[in-house]
Amino acid sequence: ILDVELRKVFKVFDGETAVRGVDLDIQQGEFFSILGPSGCGKTTTLRLIGGFETPSAGEVMIRGKSMNQVPPYRRPVNTVFQSYALFNHMSIAENIAFGLRIGRQSKAEIEQRVKDALRLVKMESFANRFPSQLSGGQQQRVALARALVNRPAVVLLDEPLGALDLKLRKEMQVELSNLHRDLGLTFVMVTHDQEEALSLSDRIAVMHEGKIEQIGTPSAIYERPRSAFVADFIGETNLLAGRIETTNSTTLQIRTTSGLKITVELDDPWQGNGSSVVVSVRPEKINLSLSPIEDEGNCFEGRLKNIMYLGAHVHYLVELTGGDRLTVLQRNSNDPLPSTETPIYIQWLPEDSIALSH
Ligand code: ADP
Ligand code: MG
Repeated sequence: ILDVELRKVFKVFDGETAVRGVDLDIQQGEFFSILGPSGCGKTTTLRLIGGFETPSAGEVMIRGKSMNQVPPYRRPVNTVFQSYALFNHMSIAENIAFGLRIGRQSKAEIEQRVKDALRLVKMESFANRFPSQLSGGQQQRVALARALVNRPAVVLLDEPLGALDLKLRKEMQVELSNLHRDLGLTFVMVTHDQEEALSLSDRIAVMHEGKIEQIGTPSAIYERPRSAFVADFIGETNLLAGRIETTNSTTLQIRTTSGLKITVELDDPWQGNGSSVVVSVRPEKINLSLSPIEDEGNCFEGRLKNIMYLGAHVHYLVELTGGDRLTVLQRNSNDPLPSTETPIYIQWLPEDSIALSH
């Protein structure tokens, strides 16, 4: 069952197109993230689902019904805004009650709803406090409770953890994930933090300049990016531009602009158009050795330009003979680290690199 559908949705603000032809299908109960750099149109997309913006073209549907003419308060969705937007002069209970739709509820019913919402986020004992008396993480929980008080079908979250420091953010990620699992509601979260999107989502839509570049599971997005933008934005990668010299069903021989001869092994026959390609190799897929490596394909030599000790891992910057600079991530083996300018040999397997149309 689909909870949210966007069909060729556009949003133009005085001549500037923020969202350009977005198509999305979000399943019921899914934790779905919209991930992309600042300014790519994530918030606008979320506001289109919430009804705070109307599409310039296209259609927004929720639970199979067109929402284009439906105002925000009549949609079965609720939003947790980036800044929490709590009212400082109201108690926590009043803040949450404020989220209730104006209706015929009795005072007792309102109290019960507020209590239930606070219990969900483990904040029952804070009902009579004020926002200024709460920590950032607690305010975040209240903002979530306020979004849940109407028992919406879909919860929209705009960078919900963006204002928290790293440690608290990690804790709240776990809580958000547990809450999603316990409630079974559809969560649509906007974030620019790729790690957050990878760790929480069932599926991710990667957005770039108002368009969806790729939609998939976290592992599909990371392991099988379909564009250089996605490969580069999700995690760290090395990108090498070149041309295809020979294609042999699922093996490509590529000559990079710097002259390297690279072999890429594909899962399926090459679908790209033209011979211009970008090769993506993840830093953790590259092996590093002080002596020449004899292996099938993709063995190169160079010099170490930088070594960064990261505790569990070591991050190396290698300059190849042809001038390319690659980053290599190795597990720390506790051997003494080589010094910069040391001659070094690298290698990666043909199936550990990806060729992307350019
Ligand atoms: P993100 O959330 O990914 O950072 P936004 O959706 O907020 O991006 O913005 C996308 C683009 O649309 C930006 O260039 C932004 O300046 C523009 N934009 C967003 N809202 C408005 C608005 N109300 N009026 C004019 N331009 C806007
Ligand atoms: Mg935003």
